[in-house]
Amino acid sequence: MSVSFSYDALPGRVVFGAGAARHALPDQMDHLGARNILLLATEHERPIAEQLAAPLGERVAGIFTGVRPHVPVDVAAAAVAAAKDIRADCVLAIGGGSTTGTAKAIALDLPLPIVVVPTTYAGSEMTPVWGLTDGEKKTTGRNPAVLPRVVVYDPELTFSLPPSLTATSGVNALAHCVEALWFPHIGPIPRLTAEEGVLALGRALPAAVRDGADVAARSGALYGAHLAGMAFAATGSGLHHKICHVLGGAFDLPHAEVHTAVLPHVVAFNEPAAVEASARIASALGARTAAEGIAGLIDRIGASTSLAALGMQTTQVERAVDLLMAKRYDENPRAVDETALRLILDGAYHGRRPGQG
Ligand code: NAD
Repeated sequence: MSVSFSYDALPGRVVFGAGAARHALPDQMDHLGARNILLLATEHERPIAEQLAAPLGERVAGIFTGVRPHVPVDVAAAAVAAAKDIRADCVLAIGGGSTTGTAKAIALDLPLPIVVVPTTYAGSEMTPVWGLTDGEKKTTGRNPAVLPRVVVYDPELTFSLPPSLTATSGVNALAHCVEALWFPHIGPIPRLTAEEGVLALGRALPAAVRDGADVAARSGALYGAHLAGMAFAATGSGLHHKICHVLGGAFDLPHAEVHTAVLPHVVAFNEPAAVEASARIASALGARTAAEGIAGLIDRIGASTSLAALGMQTTQVERAVDLLMAKRYDENPRAVDETALRLILDGAYHGRRPGQG
């Protein structure tokens, strides 16, 4: 067989298992030689973060809990100052994508290794992608310096995710896999990763939503999220992510929920032009088409929503179309114009099932 492909295989250590966050951190910190650790968490995550960091004793020299969604530039500056204050030699981020994003913002400025203990399905821990928000504008970029050196996945930390966040954060992960699958020139390894991610998430999310303490379901969903992060890192942001970033940055809408409202409409739009990717998605979800599979899963996990329900105003739809028209979509399998963007946003705004009215 003749094989030819290229992709950036990323370095980093991954430790995965129920209970891992309670015992793996000291060894991992020894491995990095970390002696002055800055702990990052939201105020909400602080108690669990402090509990998990307790075995590190005095090596935890400071804690920063000023994390905010989408990493505003002033939060990034405050986090960098906190790291400088304690002369940190390592950042330990325990939390969701916003906490990981804040750690990455520090690493953009200071040459510090990052250790992440994810508590959602965002997947940022596996990528060299950073994001910062300045007013209405969200800027993202890739830089190997922000790629976490160690990631400790512990499904038990996701027991506390309520059903709604389990569902929307899971769809966020699903979106990474879906976009990776129709990315141009995706190689066989990221393709396998993304396909396995869709399969794992499709199987695990309904059970994880039904019973948050089902360790097998939580493991499957977190495994899917890990694969989703890897697939996203090997490919990049496409039409779906560009729409979500504009909506999140410009109108301060919640990240994972926006993914849930938008994904079925982008899939329905792209499906006719991404036949092979769509067949893989449909097959992994046991559905006739990718759009039906995605919309059906979202329904089953009770995550169906609309941009209107998330607080977007009707007038902001046109503003979003304008902002999105300023972007390029060369990598999208189907040509994107103003009519296409309006169709996708209108469907997501009203929360219609794709193909209906
Ligand atoms: P988040 O980190 O903002 O967390 C959402 C909420 O969930 C917060 O209130 C948090 O305190 C709470 N929470 C977190 N873990 C919990 C748990 N186990 N139990 C109960 N509550 C919990 O949201 P997110 O969806 O994890 O991350 C979104 C952010 O990540 C966005 O800014 C997005 O752009 C970014 N992101 C970046 C990349 C990348 O590669 N750079 C990839 C994916 C997402």
